Amino acid sequence: MLCFCHSCSAVNRINPSDAQEKAPICGKCQTEFNLHDLVQEITTEGFDKILRNSKDPILVDFWAEWCGPCQQYGPTFQMVSKEFGDRVQFLKVNTEKEQDLSARLGIRGIPATVLIKDSKVVDSVSGALNYDQLRQWVSSRI
Ligand SMILES: [Zn+2]
Repeated sequence: MLCFCHSCSAVNRINPSDAQEKAPICGKCQTEFNLHDLVQEITTEGFDKILRNSKDPILVDFWAEWCGPCQQYGPTFQMVSKEFGDRVQFLKVNTEKEQDLSARLGIRGIPATVLIKDSKVVDSVSGALNYDQLRQWVSSRI
């Protein structure tokens, strides 16, 4: 998986199983990455860098703090990241902070889950899926 460093803007390649054991740090500036399981909260700058460098499909959860269903969905998204984190890059985008990115990817309602392959959006789903629904949705598309 790729981790974007918010301190020095470096993109680090991290082994997902190591990341599940302890918080990985940036190889360039030693800042600790703040992962939620294997989900990384990302800015537009980080998103674009990961988009350019990732060979794996990218799954993005678009959310906002005021959104109740988003709060509920967050832990589900994290749980699924533990299962697919070695094959899929899991990102989380705050739609309030990253409005242009959300508009660019056509986000209208949240929570929205977007699947990207080869830098293109290939599918998306709206609403808070449960664990089984999200697992199924991901496994049938990667
Ligand atoms: Zn760094």
